[in-house]
Amino acid sequence: EKLAAKIRDLRVGYRTSDGPLWAVDGVDLNLRAGECVGLVGESGSGKSSMGRAMLRLMPPGGVVQGEVEIDDRDIVNAPESTVRKMRGEGISLMFQEPMTRLNPLMRVSDHFVEMIRTHQPKTSRQRARTMARDALMQVGIPPTRVDNYPHEFSGGMRQRVMLAMAIVLTPRTIVADEPTTALDVIVESQILSLLERLRSEENVGILLITHNLGVVAEACDRVAVMYAGRIVEMGPVDQIFNDPKHPYTRGLVASTISLNTTELHSVGGYPPNLVEPPTGCRFADRCAYAMDHCTKVDPELTTVGPEQQAACLLYPGAGADVPADVRTPS
Ligand code: SF4
Ligand code: MG
Repeated sequence: EKLAAKIRDLRVGYRTSDGPLWAVDGVDLNLRAGECVGLVGESGSGKSSMGRAMLRLMPPGGVVQGEVEIDDRDIVNAPESTVRKMRGEGISLMFQEPMTRLNPLMRVSDHFVEMIRTHQPKTSRQRARTMARDALMQVGIPPTRVDNYPHEFSGGMRQRVMLAMAIVLTPRTIVADEPTTALDVIVESQILSLLERLRSEENVGILLITHNLGVVAEACDRVAVMYAGRIVEMGPVDQIFNDPKHPYTRGLVASTISLNTTELHSVGGYPPNLVEPPTGCRFADRCAYAMDHCTKVDPELTTVGPEQQAACLLYPGAGADVPADVRTPS
């Protein structure tokens, strides 16, 4: 099986005024070539940290540990020069704040030329401009605007310029962090069909971080649910929406459906303080199914259905030392 990214025991640590914490605390994921995996969870669950860690992007003072293998190279432990090469060509990030990366003094074309030549120094200026125009066209921006400055575009268009930069080198893997959040519905569907085309025609693997279950249903093959720095459930989209196994996923899906929305709505209570994570299941104090064992045993992902895994002690295999007779079958 061809993988777009192989993630092993990924951790992202930060220093806070209260002490160090692991915002991502041991995540494993195989992102296949040509598939889109939706990554959902509440704010602060670690989704964006995980997405950035896949490109070894971290805030000052932060650390990334573990492995993210792309094209047989581990970006987490590679030298900086290799990381720079891998970004853009091996793995790209589409993300929310378009102004943070565009230099207001540089024409859009120069951004593209500089980026393309960083990776492919032999590319002529002419050729790089052609690639730029082509990428802009793919995100619905008239290629004639290639020589405009960033301020000559609206916010939504600048975001699409960033998307165009993320795809211009046709990376093997794309991390898309809320790529359609600031966009109107027409542009949103345009971007989603672009992602669809990239994965079906170019075999790109996409990790789509989103708060919107409607976007997941439309764009993704599989979904991973994150809670307190861990993936707590993962599986095919239909199965996760129709037959979620983890109590947290059940809560998310039920509250989102009952509010008649596609925006993710949460369950009652708050996630734990990750400076001092609780022993046992991190969801225990919000869980309607919690048992005595739940505050003692840290559940592991275990198979709960065809290609479906959940980290919950209700299911055999999630914690080796939980006797079967204390479990409440679902
Ligand atoms: Fe709830 Fe226990 Fe499962 Fe955690 S392990 S989700 S507390 S039942
Ligand atoms: Mg985020």
